[in-house]
Amino acid sequence: MCGIVAYTGSKPVMPILLDGLKRLEYRGYDSAGVSVISRKKLKTIKAAGKLNHLEAKVDRNISAHCGIGHTRWATHGGPTDENAHPHNDTKKRFAIVHNGIIENVEALKASLGKATKYNSETDSEVIAHLLTQQTGDLASRVLAVLSQIVGTYGLAVVDQNNPDTIVVARNGSPVILGIGDGEMLAASDMSAIIRHTDQVIHLDDGELAELTPGGFKVMRMDASITNKEAITLKDLNAHYDLDGHPHFLYREIVDQPGTISQTISGRLDERFSTAHLGGLNLEARDLIGVKRITILGCGSALYAGMAGASMIESLARIPVVAEPAAEFRYRNPVIEQDTLYIVVSQSGETFDTLAALREVRRKGGFVLGIVNSVGSTIAREVDGGIYMHAGPEVSVASTKGYSSMLVAFSLLALLLGRSRDISPQRGTSIINELKQLPQHVQQVLALEPDIAKLAKRYKKSSSAFFIGRTHGFPIALEGAQKLKEISYIHAEAYPASELKHGPLALVTKDTPCFVVLPNDDLLPKTISSIEEIKARGGPVIAVTSAPASESERIDKLAKAVIRVPDTGELTSPVLFGVVFQLLAYHSAVSLGRDVDQPRNLAKSVTVE
Ligand code: GLU
Repeated sequence: MCGIVAYTGSKPVMPILLDGLKRLEYRGYDSAGVSVISRKKLKTIKAAGKLNHLEAKVDRNISAHCGIGHTRWATHGGPTDENAHPHNDTKKRFAIVHNGIIENVEALKASLGKATKYNSETDSEVIAHLLTQQTGDLASRVLAVLSQIVGTYGLAVVDQNNPDTIVVARNGSPVILGIGDGEMLAASDMSAIIRHTDQVIHLDDGELAELTPGGFKVMRMDASITNKEAITLKDLNAHYDLDGHPHFLYREIVDQPGTISQTISGRLDERFSTAHLGGLNLEARDLIGVKRITILGCGSALYAGMAGASMIESLARIPVVAEPAAEFRYRNPVIEQDTLYIVVSQSGETFDTLAALREVRRKGGFVLGIVNSVGSTIAREVDGGIYMHAGPEVSVASTKGYSSMLVAFSLLALLLGRSRDISPQRGTSIINELKQLPQHVQQVLALEPDIAKLAKRYKKSSSAFFIGRTHGFPIALEGAQKLKEISYIHAEAYPASELKHGPLALVTKDTPCFVVLPNDDLLPKTISSIEEIKARGGPVIAVTSAPASESERIDKLAKAVIRVPDTGELTSPVLFGVVFQLLAYHSAVSLGRDVDQPRNLAKSVTVE
């Protein structure tokens, strides 16, 4: 979602900005633009649509060494050339790029008076005009303008009269500084920076930074200077490469044996048959005091949380609920001391999840995070947590991120289970199950040709159902989510038990029903649901780890059967998940969809 990149240094700036925007484009955007200072003149070039529209308009070799760039995800005004960022003041002295929403834009415009002419319909442009009303250096002007703004922003500003200075600021929308040798960068996402440096600083809300080629200064809104420590990012650059694959999504699916190993690595404690999760900041005594757990997330992170809830409840016998973070935070939730709160976010920047985290902490609750992006806002604000270590996820639809969330929940369920309800023997068998998971994922990946055939067979369907029961239901939800996100086939997930209460009315011979059939106590009941679908002419595709004794019956009822290894309840969601990822991928490819950048969606949702 909406991206910023900025550079000041000795290198030609245009290729750096364009490359940065290219890396940000997977976040989803509708237009893009750049402003650079060339021979003491500010030049702004922008274009609606994909980046190649912008590239066609710019001179890559322009003599300029300082500039800002933006990919826009419109909130105010359609995706046009005029509304694309950067925005300038009337005299074209300043250029600004803005992520977020300015809520008091009308009042700010009124304060500027009728004489100010606007070139766009955006809320953001007003910032450029407000800068002209202030005095002092660029940082002082930006501070004065920000003191008038109500809303959220990640902001970068350049000033023709200070040709090598960039000022960036953050409130609710991420800004990261990259420290180079004789150069400074800034971006809303580290993907745009890491080709140039591995030394980064995350700005916190209410902070502003002034960047020059020689260094940076971070201050708070009262202009007091604050010292920030840089963190070193390791080996991230390689993830932003297709590595010979046709799409990032595909690469991220097939990389999962490796990424899952990384999530597990160093976290299995064989001596005590439990998990070792150093970052939780919870003692054994604290774990035993947990009476309830509430898990919060959005989209696939919520579905991973629902699967996690079922794992923890089953192993540790602690009541767990998983809720959409945005709904939770707005219903004035009751926060209890003996409830453990867990927020889940791949990017660590998801706006609603961050807001829910802040609401819980404000009321005194203890919050753990399950996060992929090291040093992200959520990772910094939680009381403790589990890093997923899946490496950056580039494609908009989550695959390896989702699977690593499930694995993180398995580890937590093992730890909580061993701290109360399960024996060392059971702990050891779960450890073995987790150790074998990468290999089992490899076996599921080998089913790709069969899954691709299914995808082709059902690609013309206008609707599909995903059915599961108890811990199979969150898997069905994520299966439906994946299919609709990237293939645009309408898909709904239901508990098998709910079919007869309404959805069966929609089942026809043209409605494929993907049924999650793990080898569990409910297997016979879920098979009965297949009978109900079949009786109404609906084609059933069974994805199953059922034992051989049930095979014949399932084969008779289903039009197609995909068999995954029969592991345990902690790891089987990952295996079923991979089947549905491949199904969605091949459906999208055979329908000619934009797999990595599905329409209307963005990678990390940093607006409300
Ligand atoms: N609200 C601004 C606009 O609509 C910024 C959108 C964004 O975050 O990209 O132009």
